[in-house]
Amino acid sequence: MSDPSRGPGVLHVVATPIGNLGDLSPRAQTVLRGVDAICAEDTRHTRQLLGHFGIERPLVALHEHNEDGLAARLVERLQAGESLALVSDAGTPLVSDPGFRLVRAAREAGLKVSPLPGPSALIAALSVAGLPSDRFVFEGFLPAKAGARRERLQALVAEPRTLLFYEASHRIEEMLADAAQVFGGDRKAVMARELTKLFETVLDGPLDALAARVQTEADQRKGEFVVLIEGAGDDADARLAEGHRVYALLSREMKPSLAAKLAADITGAPRKALYGQGTPGA
Ligand code: SAM
Repeated sequence: MSDPSRGPGVLHVVATPIGNLGDLSPRAQTVLRGVDAICAEDTRHTRQLLGHFGIERPLVALHEHNEDGLAARLVERLQAGESLALVSDAGTPLVSDPGFRLVRAAREAGLKVSPLPGPSALIAALSVAGLPSDRFVFEGFLPAKAGARRERLQALVAEPRTLLFYEASHRIEEMLADAAQVFGGDRKAVMARELTKLFETVLDGPLDALAARVQTEADQRKGEFVVLIEGAGDDADARLAEGHRVYALLSREMKPSLAAKLAADITGAPRKALYGQGTPGA
């Protein structure tokens, strides 16, 4: 209900559980109970969550297809004194989820946007991976198409910080196989699956072993995933990164097999890790 006498409302950005409903904080429950409306990615999904806690508030569907159009209207409601909450289907809104445009519009209008921190699969995975966590890079979802995915991975080979990716069950096998090829099978990695849920599993090991396990065990391809890859640290990683760079240049001018052989000779990177990389349609 708009009431100009109470001044502009607040946009609360509220994290919700990534699996275990016990992770909805008491403060999140209080705020969700108190707002005029809740903007939700999927209203049916959010209604279920709210139902579990006995919270009944009006819901507004806000997803990637209508966010642009709806943001201005929601800003007007905030300016008129309504307080709103923004949630996504799971975890922290805006982290590989809608909300960025609404938050930007609210901030540009000088409105208060207040975080209600809580679960995020990315931070949950980082906290249990046992990989360096002082500096890390979140890459979200890799491209669905194989060529674009490998290109993106290749651009990250020399990255020294721990890398984090979200991945879907139907692509986890391909993703790990590509990562093993591009980064080299020895690079340390962790696959965090179904965090906070019944089948929570955190596997670690060299990329080739992880890829092989996921290929052979169908259960390891079920659910939701965060994949973490240790950053390039030592000489071997630097050699591999340089190998990829030289191979990409040479393969424009000659057959991939010869380019891989020469790039391996020049840089000392393993030929097998280079072959097939950077060639169109490879
Ligand atoms: N906003 C969410 C967050 O803060 O984590 C992420 C939303 S994104 C659309 C969904 C992806 O997050 C999934 O495909 C998966 O990669 C990851 N994810 C979500 N829940 C997870 C869980 N319980 N365990 C592992 N990964 C999860």
